[in-house]
Amino acid sequence: MSEILLLEDDPAIAQTVVFALQREGFALTHCSWLHEARARLTQHEPALAIFDVGLPDGNGLDLCRELRAAGSRLPLLMLSARSEELDRVLGLELGADDYLAKPFSPRELVARVRALLRRAQAPVAAPAPQGFVIEAGGSRIRFQGQVLDLTRRELGLLSRLLAAPQRIHSRETLLDAVWGHEADSGDRTVDTHIKTLRAKLRAVAPELDPIRTHRGLGYSLE
Ligand code: CA
Repeated sequence: MSEILLLEDDPAIAQTVVFALQREGFALTHCSWLHEARARLTQHEPALAIFDVGLPDGNGLDLCRELRAAGSRLPLLMLSARSEELDRVLGLELGADDYLAKPFSPRELVARVRALLRRAQAPVAAPAPQGFVIEAGGSRIRFQGQVLDLTRRELGLLSRLLAAPQRIHSRETLLDAVWGHEADSGDRTVDTHIKTLRAKLRAVAPELDPIRTHRGLGYSLE
């Protein structure tokens, strides 16, 4: 049975969460205070944790950051009454795996929890080259510890390069793989996106320039 730690100070919300997840067969441990959850986590790591943001003795995002700084890979779902983009982005930046804005339906909560647990139990992929970490089932890439803010196409290109590093990927292959049948885009499209991708990688680590251009052939990752 998967154990879930819930950190939530609102009794009504906590009750909803506990009820919804227990009904699905999960074992719940409920804390209302940040210090309580922190103490619990040092003794025992659950299968997943759900943290509220606003707590009587602090901010759930702080605990999230502390855990990630300590190298914990515990699947984390953040709950917040504030649905502002800032909170969501901040939560994910700090290492939360998913985010649910209040009010949420118990059914959605259960679906998110299941998805996170499935993802956590998936076999760990082979290590990606040179400081890249592929996260959230491939929807997010971290470079030198920083989450890259990529467009869909940039993410597609980088994922492709990461999947077969050192291999030279021709513009046509990349175009096919990332743009598919949207045929009105030409070779220049790939170059343009590689350029913006490079700029984003440089912004993180100016000294590393992992994307190599092979004149007349294409691109590779080193
Ligand atoms: Ca709260």
